[in-house]
Amino acid sequence: MESISRLRAKLPDPMRRLADFAYNYWWSWTPDRVALFSAIDPGLWQCCRHNPVALLESVSHERLWQLAEDPHYLKRLYRLSHQLDCYLNEDNTWASRVAPMIPPEHPVAYFCIEFGIHESIPIYCGGLGVLAGGHLKSASDLGLPMVGIGLLYKQGYFRQWLNRSGWQEADYVDLDFSQLPMEKVCNEYGQPITVKVNIRQRLVKVQVWQIQVGRSVLYLLDTDLPENDAAARALTGRLYGGDLDTQMAQEVLLGIGGVRVLQALGIEPSIYHLNEVHAVFALLEIALQTREETGQSFEQIQALVRDLTVFTTHTPVPVGNVFSAELMTDFFAHYWPQLGLTREEFLALGARQPDQPWEPFSLVILALRLTRAANGVSRQHGHVSRQMWQALYPNRPVEAVPIGHITNGIHVRTWVAPLMADLYEDYLGRGWSTQLTNTELWNRVEEIPNEALWHRHSILKARLVAYTRDRVRQAREARGEADDDINAVGRLLDPQVLTIGFARRFSAYKRSDLIFRDLQRMSRILAHSKRPIQIILAGKAHPDDHQGKRIIQRLMEWSRHPDLRDRVAFIEDYDLYTTKLMVQGVDLWLNTCRRTFEASGTSGQKAALNGVLNLSVQSGWWCEGYQAGINGWEIGEALPDDRERQDAVDAESLYTLLERDIARLYYSRDRAGLSRGWLRMMKASIRTITPRFNTDRMVAEYVTQMYLPQPTEPPEPVLASVIA
Ligand SMILES: *Cc1c(COP(=O)(O)O)cnc(C)c1O
Repeated sequence: MESISRLRAKLPDPMRRLADFAYNYWWSWTPDRVALFSAIDPGLWQCCRHNPVALLESVSHERLWQLAEDPHYLKRLYRLSHQLDCYLNEDNTWASRVAPMIPPEHPVAYFCIEFGIHESIPIYCGGLGVLAGGHLKSASDLGLPMVGIGLLYKQGYFRQWLNRSGWQEADYVDLDFSQLPMEKVCNEYGQPITVKVNIRQRLVKVQVWQIQVGRSVLYLLDTDLPENDAAARALTGRLYGGDLDTQMAQEVLLGIGGVRVLQALGIEPSIYHLNEVHAVFALLEIALQTREETGQSFEQIQALVRDLTVFTTHTPVPVGNVFSAELMTDFFAHYWPQLGLTREEFLALGARQPDQPWEPFSLVILALRLTRAANGVSRQHGHVSRQMWQALYPNRPVEAVPIGHITNGIHVRTWVAPLMADLYEDYLGRGWSTQLTNTELWNRVEEIPNEALWHRHSILKARLVAYTRDRVRQAREARGEADDDINAVGRLLDPQVLTIGFARRFSAYKRSDLIFRDLQRMSRILAHSKRPIQIILAGKAHPDDHQGKRIIQRLMEWSRHPDLRDRVAFIEDYDLYTTKLMVQGVDLWLNTCRRTFEASGTSGQKAALNGVLNLSVQSGWWCEGYQAGINGWEIGEALPDDRERQDAVDAESLYTLLERDIARLYYSRDRAGLSRGWLRMMKASIRTITPRFNTDRMVAEYVTQMYLPQPTEPPEPVLASVIA
C-alpha cells in the first residue's frame, strides 16, 4: 500500500481520508460523488479524466488548505468517511446469509479480458467490460467476496478522433500507471509478486496490480517488465489491438497467468467464473494444478475442474473464437504432456467431433466440456446458444442443452443521475437503492409529480446539450475547421427539441446505418417544422473495421448537410463518461441492431433508469423488458432470413414510429407545457424496467444458480449493503 501512503502523507492533515477515496472506486457510485473531487478543482478534474489520484497529485497545496478550512467540505468528507468505513466493515450482508459457503477466504474469481469500472481507467471497449465492472460493484454491494482477474493494457483501448474527411483515426497514449488509483502487488518484504507464463515456448514474467472496487479487488496482469523481451513486453500493450497470434497470447496470459497469480497470492477461489471465452485457458491451468496436487489422471481431474468452474457465453454467432490446430500446437506443445495427454487428446477438447481433433479448436466447446454450468446473457441469447451448441449433445432436444441464461443488468448506483437519485430518495424513500428488485417500491414512481420529473429531465438534457457543444467545438478546433464552422456550435442542438441518443460500437451487426437507409425521409423527419427531432451520436469502430469506419464517415457527411447541421451531433471518443451524460440526458434511446446478434445489450437499461424511453428492435434484453404501448417502442418485426427485406421493413417501421407516434406524443403538451403522455411512459419505463435489469438481481442470480453447488431459489429478497 505504498502509493496510497505516499498520497496520504502529501495531503493536509484534515484531508488525509481523501486518499482512501482516491484509491477505492467506491467513491464513484456514492450519491455524493459529484462534490467530493470536482469541488477541489473542476477544471483540473476534467483535464485528468476524473482520475482522483492524478487530481490530488497535481492540485496546489494552497487549494487543498483552502478546502481544509471549509467546514462544509470537511463535514461532507467526514460523513463520507464514516459511510466508507461502515460499508467496508459490514459483515451481515445478503451474500453472507445466502451463500456462507463463499467466505472471504475463498472468493469467487471472476475472469474477463476487459473491465469497465470508470472512465479514468480505460481498459474496456464496450458492453462486455461495462458488465464486468458492474458485476464487481454489485458483488461488493451485496457482500459477495469476489476478486476480478484481467489484463492491464499500457495503452488501454484506442482514443478516437475524426479527421477532416470524417474518417476515424486512432491515438494510442501510454497510461501513467503511477498516476492511476492502483497499487503494484508486493509480498511482505515489499518485493513485487510475479509469476511466469510460457507463451509460445518462451517464459514471460508477469507482475500484478490491484484496484479496489468497493470490497472487490481487481487484479490486473502486466508484462511490461525490463526482464521481458520487446514482444513479451508488448503483450499487454493494447486491448483488442493485435492479430490472431497476439489475441491467443493475451488469452493464454489471462487464463493461465490469471490462475497462477491467484496461486501466488494464496487465494483459493470457491469458484472460477469465466466471463466470455477469452479466459477459458484457465480451465487447463486449473486442471494442471489439480493434477500436480492429486497426481490423478486427466480423466479423473475433469470432474474436479468442473466442480470449480462456470462459464458465461456472450457470443451469439458460431464463427470466431476458434484457433487452428497449428496455432494451438505452437502455444501448447509443452503443455499437453504435463496434463498427461497426447496431442490428439488435447486437441479433441476443443473439437466438435472428438474423433476429429484436426478441426479448428473452439474455445466455447472447451468451456462447455470443462465447466459445471454455462449461461447466455438474456432469455433470447440462452435459446440461441442452446440451438448453436446442440450438436455437442447429440441425444438431447434443444431445450435440454445445458446452457441456461441470466439476463445482463446495469449497476444502478453508477448509472443513475444524482438529480434522479434525489427524486427517487424523495418518492421511493430513503434506502431505495438498497432494494432495487423490490417492484412495489418502484411502483411509487407514479407518485412523482409530473413537473418535478419533467424539470429534472430538462436540466439533464440541457446539460448534455452544453457538453455536446463543448466536445464538438473542441473537435472542430482540433481539425482546424473554419471559424464560421467552429462558431456554428452555438446553434447546434436545442434543449427544447425531442432528442435521440444513438451510441454504440460501430460494427456491422449494430446496423448503425439503418437510420439513413432513406436519407431524405430521415432528413425530413429531423427538420420537421412543428415537430423537429435531433440526434446525438457516439461510438467507435474497431481500428481494423473498415466497414464500421465507413459508416461513421457517412454519418459525418450526412450531418454536414445544411438542413441537418444543427440537428445531428457526433461526440468523439465515446467512453463511460459520455455514455453517462447521454443515457441521462436524451429523451429516446435508439437501438437498431440486427436481431439476435446482440446477445443482451445494456445501454437501453441505463437510459430507462433515468426516465429515457427505448425505441429498439426486439433483441437481447428488450425481448424481456418491452411492454407494448406501456414502456417504449418496438421497431419492425423479425422476418425469415432475408437481410435486405429485413432492413427495409425495419427502416420503414422506424420512420413511421418516429413520425406518427413518437414525435406527436412528445410534442402534445398541456397548458403547463408538459407532455402528459410522454411522462406516463417515462414513469412506466422506470417502474417496469429498473427492478429487473440491474446487476444486483443479476449477481444474486449468479450466486443462486451458478456459484452455489446446487441451484436454489433465493431464500430472501436481494439487499445491497450500501449506505443510502
Ligand atoms: C453500456 C455501454 C455499452 C453497452 O452498450 P450496448 O450497445 O447496449 O451493448 C458499450 N459501451 C459503453 C461505453 C457503455 O457504457
